[in-house]
Amino acid sequence: MQPGKLFIIAAPSGTGKSTIVNYLMKQGLNMHFSISLTTRAPRGKEKNGVEYFFTSVEDFRTHIANNDFIEYEEVYTGCFYGTLKSQVEKQIAQGQNVIFDVDVNGGINIKKHFGEEALSIFIMPPSIEALRKRLEKRGTDSPEVIDQRIARAEYEISQAPHFDKTVINDDLATAQSEVLELVKNFLYQ
Ligand code: ADP
Ligand code: 5GP
Repeated sequence: MQPGKLFIIAAPSGTGKSTIVNYLMKQGLNMHFSISLTTRAPRGKEKNGVEYFFTSVEDFRTHIANNDFIEYEEVYTGCFYGTLKSQVEKQIAQGQNVIFDVDVNGGINIKKHFGEEALSIFIMPPSIEALRKRLEKRGTDSPEVIDQRIARAEYEISQAPHFDKTVINDDLATAQSEVLELVKNFLYQ
C-alpha cells in the first residue's frame, strides 16, 4: 500500500478554512483528519478517537515528558492540543491522506517536522475588513471574541511566508479550485 500524504491547511479564524477543507474532504481523495490529543472536554456529539482523543492535563504532561508529540500548544489557557507522532504514523501507514486542522504555529511546526512529505497551504483573507465581516456574518462569536480573533489574525498573516503556498479566499469557488489543484498536483507528482 502507498503511504498517505500530508496536507497542512491554516488560516486566521473566519477566513473560510473549514468551508474549503469540507469541500476537499468530498472530492474522493481519501482525505482524513489528523486526530489530535486535547485536554478540553468533548462538545456536543464529539466522540473519543473521532474528532479528538480527550485526556487529562496530567496525562498530556506525561506525553510531553515522553517526547510523544510532533507539536503541541496551549491554544487557550488551560487547554492543550497536540499532534501525536504515533497517531500520524498510523494514519500514513494505513494509506490515508492526512489533513491537519491546527493553528498557524502548529502548522509551521508540522511542516518543519515532515519537510517534503507535507504540503502546507495558507488561506489568506482578502482583507482584515472582509475577515471581520465574515466573522460577524457567521454569528458564532461575541464581539469581544471577534476582536481577539482579528488581533491574532494580523500576527497569523505575517506567518504566511513560512507556508509552501498561499491561496487568497476572495471568491470561494476560485479559492476551492486553486486549493484542489495544489492538492492534486502534490498527490500525483
Ligand atoms: P474558518 O474555518 O476559517 O474559521 P469558516 O469556513 O467558518 O472559516 O468561514 C467563515 C464564514 O465566512 C462562514 O460563514 C463562511 O460561509 C463564509 N465564507 C467562507 N468563504 C467565503 C468567501 N470566499 N466569501 C464570503 N464568505 C465566505
Ligand atoms: P477546537 O477546540 O475549536 O476544536 O480547536 C481550537 C483550536 O485548536 C483550533 O484552532 C484548532 O485548529 C486548534 N488545534 C486542534 N488540534 C490541534 C493540535 O494538535 N495542535 C495545534 N497546534 N492546534 C490544534
